[in-house]
Amino acid sequence: MTVRVRFAPFLFPALLLLASFSSPLAAQNPTAPAVFGYADFTAQSKVEEKFLAVPDASLAGQHLKFLTAEPHLAATPEDRKTAEYVAQKFRTAGLETEIVPYRVLLNQPQEVRVEAYDDHGKLLMSGPAREHVSNDPYQDDPRVVMSFNGSSGSGDVTAEVVYANYGRLEDFDQLVAQHIDIRGKIVLARYGANFRGVKVYIAEQRGALGVLLYSDPQDDGYDKGQAYPQGPWRPETAVQRGSVQYLFKFPGDPETPGVASTLDLPDSARIPAEKSPSQPRIIAIPISSHDAMPILRALKGVSVPQGWQGALPFRYHIGQLAGQGSVRVHLLSRQDYQRRIIWDVIGKAKGAEYPDQWVIAGNHRDAWVYGAVDPSSGTAAMLESVHGIGVLLHQGWRPKRTLLFCSWDAEEEGLIGSTEWVEGHAKALEQAVAYFNMDVAVSGPDFSAAATPSLKQFLRELTRSVPSPLGESVYRQWGANHPAGEDRHASNVPPAAEEIHVGDLGSGSDFTPFFQHVGVPSTDIGSGGPYGVYHSVFDNYAWYTQNADPHFLYLQQMARVFGLEALRMADADVLPLDYAAYSRAISSYIEAAKRKAADQGVNLDFSSAQTAAARFIAAADRVYSLQAAPSGDLLRLNLALRQVESALLSDDGLPNRTWYRHTIYAPGEFTGYAVQVLPGVNEALDAQDRTRAAQQLAVLAQALDRATRTLDFAQ
Ligand SMILES: [Zn+2]
Repeated sequence: MTVRVRFAPFLFPALLLLASFSSPLAAQNPTAPAVFGYADFTAQSKVEEKFLAVPDASLAGQHLKFLTAEPHLAATPEDRKTAEYVAQKFRTAGLETEIVPYRVLLNQPQEVRVEAYDDHGKLLMSGPAREHVSNDPYQDDPRVVMSFNGSSGSGDVTAEVVYANYGRLEDFDQLVAQHIDIRGKIVLARYGANFRGVKVYIAEQRGALGVLLYSDPQDDGYDKGQAYPQGPWRPETAVQRGSVQYLFKFPGDPETPGVASTLDLPDSARIPAEKSPSQPRIIAIPISSHDAMPILRALKGVSVPQGWQGALPFRYHIGQLAGQGSVRVHLLSRQDYQRRIIWDVIGKAKGAEYPDQWVIAGNHRDAWVYGAVDPSSGTAAMLESVHGIGVLLHQGWRPKRTLLFCSWDAEEEGLIGSTEWVEGHAKALEQAVAYFNMDVAVSGPDFSAAATPSLKQFLRELTRSVPSPLGESVYRQWGANHPAGEDRHASNVPPAAEEIHVGDLGSGSDFTPFFQHVGVPSTDIGSGGPYGVYHSVFDNYAWYTQNADPHFLYLQQMARVFGLEALRMADADVLPLDYAAYSRAISSYIEAAKRKAADQGVNLDFSSAQTAAARFIAAADRVYSLQAAPSGDLLRLNLALRQVESALLSDDGLPNRTWYRHTIYAPGEFTGYAVQVLPGVNEALDAQDRTRAAQQLAVLAQALDRATRTLDFAQ
């Protein structure tokens, strides 16, 4: 489901391209531990070398071809077929493998219709039009699901249309400022800027009857560049499907928050869908720019504010609510809601020394249609990571910690397969040391990553060991696109000169249950490029080989990075979790929240949180020096290092959305994908609720004190 920030096509300095890839080992300083977490990296470097030699570009391409041969929406026979393919590859590699089913509520569309009329009752459009371009070999398969939104309501409504730009909170507030009341109306909003479920959530809260979501050419279509099949951008008939579940309330099966939807879970343990806080009550339908154009063109009334104009070739207007210039739209949505069976695939290599400490690597497998980029590039890469681990296993190597590779189902509908599995393994996951995610693994050559702060340095370090198809290391290519300095605002200390930006984890993919519900340190990686066909029929093998990665070299690169994350974490002497950086990031968040409160004129005492953060920094620095020169009781040190993330959870969860238990990170209630730091405190400030803000500051200080005590236990 992930949407990644896209960067401009990158320009490598010619010198970088000429320089040859040098072994990471050559750069090691012999007097310091060469790799954080290892007392002596010599043996491990041999294991890693063997591993890195295995992932194969053409085999990855074969996986991709198989996985994208048919549309494989969650819970369909074709989805089951991909599960069996993945399970077979896991078994061949020597992983103990099982296909784990869950029974979860999913909608599939029976009928979706949109018709628009002008103020004389003249038909302006009738759709949705079929997604179509000239010469795409995949578009005509009868199994391509019609355009729809996961978790949309069913219904039949007719009302005037109001254009609401991106459907952000500030956009809806702008309508209020223009005296436009959306109660009883249909909102037309463009994709982009926030998670689509947030657009529907605000529209529903403000009384709209339905939402039409469309793709404006300005955001991912011809305004960006050549549209498919001439180029990578969205053609005018292409539709972005997607879930509008309120996943910022909780992800997973809408009927079982906090509980795994196993096949034997009785109905009495499920909450009725119509009462589920994660389900919209109104209709949402996604349409193409082709279908949105006649509606937008006919809208009259107030001209749009600056920033609301898209790239269609006329001036946009917000819409008249009655009489001349009003546009009425008829929406019909018949959704077949049923409890359906989905299939996760879990492959395990048992740890030789610490079998209870799990290192988990996962990627979802289900797609809205073919999903070449999202998510099959991730699955193809993961299968080559597993291939590499398999070669090591067949040579008699065993990981120190237990390795788990996971192929999640029904991610697109709301992170369902991963969430149900996490909810069913919450106890065991208290000992899991890390979760590594991939989703949209390859849409181009631009590596990027997001992570728990404790794992940012780990990612920077290990990408030095992986060659890039462009020469040198992934780290160097990454650095060429993400110059240092972007992290500086989040730290009280100047970062090392070579520090590359690693983002924070918000939501939109399967790391969410691991990180924000049960507190497992997590990362999310991908390699991006111009990608305009997200969630459309055109995210297929033909688009991929034409635009993203014709020789599958980036699948190979991602297989190496992903597998190396798992391998290096599984074998580390001391867990390479960096709390010196993490504690400083938290301290900077507290300072920022304090400034925000001051700007609002709110009188709040931040001193206990600030003091707690300072103590956390001091403890983290002490432990960091133990990690840098590991000796003595490593079991105790490792136990403590792992428990710090758990210490940052609050038992009560966030106010109004208790499934989210992390006190430092949550998806923003009004952004959805983007992260909200110190969510309890900042959301209380946003709601101008001083009492709640004070209470949440106390919760934060307690969490930081728990984290400090946990680190002190290590010494
Ligand atoms: Zn995805």
